[in-house]
Amino acid sequence: MTPRLWAGGALIVLLVALIGFAAVAVPWHRAPAPRADQLAALGEFPADQVARSRAFHAELRPLSYAGMLLGLLIALVLGLTPLGARLVELAGRPFGDHWLARAVLGGLAVVFVAELVTLPLAIWRHTIVVRYGISTQTWGGWSVDLLKSFGVGAVLGGAVLAAFFTVTHFAPRWWWAFGAAGAAGLVVLLSFVLPVVVEPIFNRFTPMADGPLRTELLALAERDGVPVKDVLVADASRRTRAVNAYVSGLGPTRRIVVYDTMLAEATPGEVVSVTAHELGHAKDDDVLTGTIMGALGSAVAVIVLYLLGSWTGLLRLAGVESIAEPRAIGLLLAVTTVAGLVAGPAQSFVSRRVEARADSHALELTGDPATFEAMQRRLGTVNLADPDPPSWEHAMFASHPSTVQRMAAARAWAQGAR
Ligand SMILES: [Zn+2]
Repeated sequence: MTPRLWAGGALIVLLVALIGFAAVAVPWHRAPAPRADQLAALGEFPADQVARSRAFHAELRPLSYAGMLLGLLIALVLGLTPLGARLVELAGRPFGDHWLARAVLGGLAVVFVAELVTLPLAIWRHTIVVRYGISTQTWGGWSVDLLKSFGVGAVLGGAVLAAFFTVTHFAPRWWWAFGAAGAAGLVVLLSFVLPVVVEPIFNRFTPMADGPLRTELLALAERDGVPVKDVLVADASRRTRAVNAYVSGLGPTRRIVVYDTMLAEATPGEVVSVTAHELGHAKDDDVLTGTIMGALGSAVAVIVLYLLGSWTGLLRLAGVESIAEPRAIGLLLAVTTVAGLVAGPAQSFVSRRVEARADSHALELTGDPATFEAMQRRLGTVNLADPDPPSWEHAMFASHPSTVQRMAAARAWAQGAR
């Protein structure tokens, strides 16, 4: 059997595993609450507030689409013309055209050019979120964040590029197997280390101060049967007025994080409600589910890249001999950008179902739909979310059910519980 046949076989096995795992792990059956209840919830928002959040999103919308389009265009130009290959050659030239220099510096150069092209849109976006009072960041703080994320991206990206092209260099026929295993392993590793290595670069995390709220949250976790060592507070207020909470990490690095803005804006009861939602993610192992799907998905992506590498027309457009040489980095960027755009709506769909399950968990655990609704209203109001966004946009991009869907779900739960 040739490596290509093995790759085809491995692809089928991985796809079956991914689809099978998703079929059992994703709560597909959770349909949104009745539309009439959603409209009733919408009616509770003051009209001027809905108008303001819609005006905010109307200003952001063209930027988001322009960003997507521009990102796609630059990736296609770098990948489907010899421009990307030329950029990689240039980056490797000071180092005697060594393949490793081409891989790391060339790869970073290609990504940097793509970032630079969309930078004006990010600047424009910042002016809008500042004007609407969501962001509290000065240009100084904003630039520091940008440089930090470039730095993190360069270190992580450089390591991945070096590892990937070392494998393609030394195992030109079987790199897809090592690459697929390595990509899957990297996703798992990142899930463990991101909360303890990368998140602290951007925020400070401190244990929630002793007091009745902390005691109540830890008691809630215990009642739920979810081992939580600590509830951490992130100093989100240094850049935003938005309120949020999340759970990240796996096993020993699992933590529940509440924004300090949440503690300042919301009532203790609402913080309990948010935490109950996050405990739902922990109890259902949603981070683990996402990690497994991400690991399988990235292994699939590596093998698809390998198989695409036999498409000579594509290689000719990029001006490269093989998809596994550093000069093909632009082509890799083009393929992954297109794949990301195609996979986005499916990921959003899965995310919304998982979030709806965590909402149900919060309702079951607290037995307090009124506070849950108040919390959703607060989240939507402070964060300037459109409580009832355009349905196609919601379907394509939203990671959470809409505010009115979540409020209506609380009403449906209350009726069922009564
Ligand atoms: Zn959630």
